[in-house]
Amino acid sequence: MSKFEFKELPYAYDALEPYIDAQTMEVHYDKHHRAYHSKFVAAIEDTEFENMESMHAVFTNINKGNAAVRNNGGGYFNHELFWSCMSAKGGGKPTDKLAKAIDQAFSSFKIFKEIFSNAAATRFGSGWAWLLVNPQGKLEVCSTANQNNPLMKDAEVKGEPILALDVWEHAYYLKYQNRRPEYIDAFWHVVDWEAIAKNYSEVLQKL
Ligand code: MN
Repeated sequence: MSKFEFKELPYAYDALEPYIDAQTMEVHYDKHHRAYHSKFVAAIEDTEFENMESMHAVFTNINKGNAAVRNNGGGYFNHELFWSCMSAKGGGKPTDKLAKAIDQAFSSFKIFKEIFSNAAATRFGSGWAWLLVNPQGKLEVCSTANQNNPLMKDAEVKGEPILALDVWEHAYYLKYQNRRPEYIDAFWHVVDWEAIAKNYSEVLQKL
C-alpha cells in the first residue's frame, strides 16, 4: 500500500501562524486528513482500485457507486495538495512562466485573486477552490463540492489542479468562525508560489 502512503506534514503545526493557527493545523492534519487516508485505504481493499498506479487512475475510474472511495480518496488527495501549496515563506506573487500564464488567462494577478477568492467564498457548504490546467493547457479557476476535484471523471470543469484551497468549515472555524472571506484573505499570505510554479511546469510536461 506504499503508493498511497500517509505523508508527513511538510512543516510544523505552527509554521503558518498567524494566518492558519496551530490548533487548526493539528486537528486538520492529524484527525481529518488521517481519517480520510485510513478510510480510503480500507475502502479500496480487495477492489479494482487497490492495485492502481496513482490517485489519478483512481479518479479516472470512479463513479457514483464508489462513494467511500470518492469521498475519502478525494479527501486524501485534496489535502496532500493543499498542504504542499502553503509554506512559511509563502505570500507574494508568482514569477516567470506562471505569472505570464496567469496574466494571459485572467488579465492580471489581482483579477485572478479576485476570481479565485470569489469561487472559494461562494462555494455553498463544504468544498474546495482550485486553480487548474485544463486539457488545452490553459489555466482555469473552479470550485467543487465536498471532496470532489477536477480530476474526477464526472467533474464539471476538468483538468490538473495546481493550487487548492480547502473551504470546509473544519479548515477555519476555530480561528475565523463564520468569517470565511477572512480566512481566504489570510490564505494568500501563505501560498508558496514556487511550489505552484513547479506544479504548473510538471503538468505542462505531461500534456
Ligand atoms: Mn479539510
